[in-house]
Amino acid sequence: MFFNSVKYDEPVFRPPGEARSAIIQATLGCSWNKCAFCEMYTSKKFKARSLEDLKPEIEKLSNVYSGVKKIFLADGNAFVLSANKLLPILDEINIQFGKLQRISSYALPKDILIKSESELRDLRGRGLKLLYVGIETGDNELLKLINKGETFNSTVDGILKAHNAGIDTSIMILNGLGGKMYSEQHAIKSAEIINMINPKFLSTLTLSLPFGLEHFKKKFIGDYQQQTIVELFLELKLFIENINSENIIFRSNHVSNNLILKGTLSKDKDQLVEMLQQAIESTPKDKYPEAPDML
Ligand code: SF4
Repeated sequence: MFFNSVKYDEPVFRPPGEARSAIIQATLGCSWNKCAFCEMYTSKKFKARSLEDLKPEIEKLSNVYSGVKKIFLADGNAFVLSANKLLPILDEINIQFGKLQRISSYALPKDILIKSESELRDLRGRGLKLLYVGIETGDNELLKLINKGETFNSTVDGILKAHNAGIDTSIMILNGLGGKMYSEQHAIKSAEIINMINPKFLSTLTLSLPFGLEHFKKKFIGDYQQQTIVELFLELKLFIENINSENIIFRSNHVSNNLILKGTLSKDKDQLVEMLQQAIESTPKDKYPEAPDML
């Protein structure tokens, strides 16, 4: 990926909602890089980039993307950077780009919790208004089996701390994460955590296995039995049925998903559940998902 001589360290990932954003790689890779299902940054060693390295890139991108309204800080969890490192980067972005709608990045709950409330408010004041957090599940047992390095409580604490500082979150839940064995508890605890944190945005992705089922099974610390498409729909239906928060913008439109769903929860819950019920009835019971090409 090149933009006017800005050379990105590939691969670069960004959320679908950042398709029109300028991307600045404030960090390379993921500082955690241990989740059993994730191959996004396994080819990279985590590195924080210096402001000196970033300054010329920010200037070039501000010329190419003149008038852009959104900036996404890559890679995996740029929010792991301390406030002392992030604030000068945000200052430079604001100087070069001028008025922006928002700056965003991926974050882990622990990345939020290591910052003080006043630091979070300072970051919000410099335009960092949205964090994408792949919490994957609310189920503590499953969080351990996938080696997420977070718990139900650490996730709730981190997200609510961001919300209290005025930073919105976009939460990702991974359909199919626990296979047949953990499906029900995954759906119910994931709905419970969503009801507690009440994020602005919620999306569900479907577990994808770019290196195959056997590779994933070696990393999953438990008995993983792959679900059929119908079983994935049933899990998603149970998850949505148990959400009772209001005004969450919900999207299930990632390349990995077998059915496109969009709506506002819980206002559109009945309609989404009905769509899933129809999909359940019209899909062969023994059909398994095919791996989308995401790497
Ligand atoms: S899922 Fe997120 S936190 Fe886990 S290894 Fe991948 S990028 Fe890192």
